[in-house]
Amino acid sequence: MATDSVIFDRIALIGVGLIGGSIGLAARRANCVGTIVATARSAETRQAAIELGLADQVAETAAAAVQDADCVILCSPVGAFGDIGAEIAAHLKPGAIITDVGSVKGAVVEALSPVLPANVHLIPGHPIAGTEKSGPTAGFASLFDQRWCILTPPEGADGHKLAQLDAFWTALGAEVDVMTPAHHDLVLAITSHVPHLIAYNIVGTADDLEEVTQGEVIKYSAGGFRDFTRIAASDPTMWRDIFLANKDAVLEMLGRFSEDLSSLQRAIRWGDGDALFDLFSRTRAIRQQIIDAGQETADPDFGRHNDDDDG
Ligand code: NAP
Repeated sequence: MATDSVIFDRIALIGVGLIGGSIGLAARRANCVGTIVATARSAETRQAAIELGLADQVAETAAAAVQDADCVILCSPVGAFGDIGAEIAAHLKPGAIITDVGSVKGAVVEALSPVLPANVHLIPGHPIAGTEKSGPTAGFASLFDQRWCILTPPEGADGHKLAQLDAFWTALGAEVDVMTPAHHDLVLAITSHVPHLIAYNIVGTADDLEEVTQGEVIKYSAGGFRDFTRIAASDPTMWRDIFLANKDAVLEMLGRFSEDLSSLQRAIRWGDGDALFDLFSRTRAIRQQIIDAGQETADPDFGRHNDDDDG
């Protein structure tokens, strides 16, 4: 993780919230970049970026931030990528890598490919790491430790540039996987996007019921509801953009989900305990597989203990 060898002389972070800020801190920890330049919409965030050491310099605009950068990383909500791409296009260094951290990939390629010049390298990315917190103060250096980072290079992408970006994420602590944008969007729809939609929905339904239950939803929230409220507290702007941008894959997965929910409904109605027991046993085994893969907690390093701690 700590490389002490410089992969990029200069990187530009467009957005320095949870993810952009964590990239700045992790890149500094690894000593893998020369200068880190950041920009954000507001003067408050730009000032916080300097005070918190997320970047060495800030620029007032994205166009100014990307000047001379070898790698530009878009770390703002996906809905802003088209406008940002158009703003920076004429100011990019020839040969620069343009990448991002957006939670959807097909829409990012659609938004950026038409506006970027031919002499730069678009290699979209998505670190599978995060918390429900946002803003520059939410960033921390170990966010990507032992987390996956998925890169979705276009066909025929420059192998050297891809290797450089892979080395950068590896230096930040992540493990890199490569796939197509469409495959990424399908996988993330079922592992992340639909679960968030279910959490938003159940918390919304419970809130609508509050009039009937008069405070009992909050009072007895430990019974499973609490975990949904944590997910449903995720940033509204980011998640609005994700559902609008990954519409097709989310609708495809929701269709399957609704069918499976209907069969559960039928099993309950007809007292089919075997069907319920079979499904719950299958899902319990999946939980065990996640534990075996060391993916069970949201902590850095998945909360793994050193072997010594096992006692
Ligand atoms: P965040 O904490 O809300 O930070 C967003 C940053 O983008 C802020 O610095 C914000 O500036 C800036 N920004 C917003 N609109 C902008 C614009 N038009 N031009 C320039 N900067 C702009 O968000 P985040 O959680 O880091 O998420 C950023 C990206 O990471 C999203 O694309 C998201 O899909 C992806 N992602 C998030 C997670 C997660 O768990 N949060 C995980 C993986 C990937 P101001 O503060 O001045 O508004």
